[in-house]
Amino acid sequence: MPRPSESGIEWRVDVPPERRLAVELVLAWADVKERMPGRLRPCENSECRLFVLDHSRANTARWCSMKTCGNRIKARRHLARVRETRRTEEIAGT
Ligand SMILES: [Zn+2]
Repeated sequence: MPRPSESGIEWRVDVPPERRLAVELVLAWADVKERMPGRLRPCENSECRLFVLDHSRANTARWCSMKTCGNRIKARRHLARVRETRRTEEIAGT
């Protein structure tokens, strides 16, 4: 919360120790956001709780790791597409 001090308003992090980590995480997050705007986003794998810090020039990274989440999502999308095609064929066949 903001508190008045000699240098104007001072932001103090006043939290119990068990919540300290969460606060520091938020502060680190804000720091990254400031230094690399638009480069930090959640991994597109909804089952994944990691975040992507995009270093690509085109800023198109979508997964925390292409090897894990990237491949998993691609495989799942492919499966969904195959299933969708089959369903459409079934409907068309009746
Ligand atoms: Zn991920």
